[in-house]
Amino acid sequence: MIREKIERVNSFIAQACERAGRDREEVTLITVSKTKPLSALQEAYAAGSRDFGENKVQELMDKIPAMPEDVRWHMIGHLQRNKVKYIVGKVYLIHSVDSLKLAEEISREAVKKQTTVNILIEVNVACEESKFGTTVEETVWLAEQISKLPGVHIQGLMTIAPFVEDPEENRLVFRKLKQLSVDIEHKNIDNVSMSVLSMGMTGDYQVAVEEGATYVRVGTAIFGERDYSVSV
Ligand SMILES: *Cc1c(COP(=O)(O)O)cnc(C)c1O
Repeated sequence: MIREKIERVNSFIAQACERAGRDREEVTLITVSKTKPLSALQEAYAAGSRDFGENKVQELMDKIPAMPEDVRWHMIGHLQRNKVKYIVGKVYLIHSVDSLKLAEEISREAVKKQTTVNILIEVNVACEESKFGTTVEETVWLAEQISKLPGVHIQGLMTIAPFVEDPEENRLVFRKLKQLSVDIEHKNIDNVSMSVLSMGMTGDYQVAVEEGATYVRVGTAIFGERDYSVSV
C-alpha cells in the first residue's frame, strides 16, 4: 500500500521533471512521517525511502534510534531554541531556520559538538500571518548574518506555500523562492550555497518540481490523512 503510493509520487515527480526539462536526479522525495507510527516508517523504508521529515523534536528523538542508521532525518517544523541541543548532530538538514537568534543557538551547539549543521532559511513567501519564516526582504540580510556563524552552513531556502485548492495558485510562490535563491547566489556570500530548494507538499509538489524544487516534502499522498487525535 505505502509502496504503491511512494511509487506513484515518484512517477509524478519524474513526469514533472520531464515537463520542466529537468534531470530526475535533481529532486529528492522527503517522506513526511510526522504523527505516523514506526511500522509505517519501516514500510516506507522497505520501499526505498531514506529521507524522512518530522516536525517535532520529541518525535525525532523517539524515531531516530528506532530506524536504520542510513536514514537522513529532516527537521521541517518550527524549532524552539531550547530544543536545538537535542537534534544537532542527529539530523541531516534543518529546513526551518527563520531567525538569527535560532541560527546563533544552532551555531553554539555545533561548535560545542565540533560539527557542522546544514540548514535552510525558511521564507514566508506569501506573507501569511499564520506561518513562520522570514520575509523575502529580510532573507538576504539573514543569510549574510548567518554566514558569519561558525558551525552553520546555509544550503538553500525552504517555503511552506499556502493551502490552496488549485496547485497552480502556488506557482508564483515557488517561482519567487527560486528567484530569491538565484539573487542570493549572485551575491556570492562566503559560506552560503543556494543549491537546495525545499518546496512542495502533497497538494502542489508537481508544480514545485516544475519550478525548481530539489526537495519535495510529501506526507498525506504516501500515508493518507494524519489523525491528530491519537498521540504517537
Ligand atoms: C506536514 C508537512 C508537510 C507534508 O504535508 P502533506 O500535505 O501531508 O504532504 C510538508 N512540509 C511541512 C513543513 C509539514 O509540516
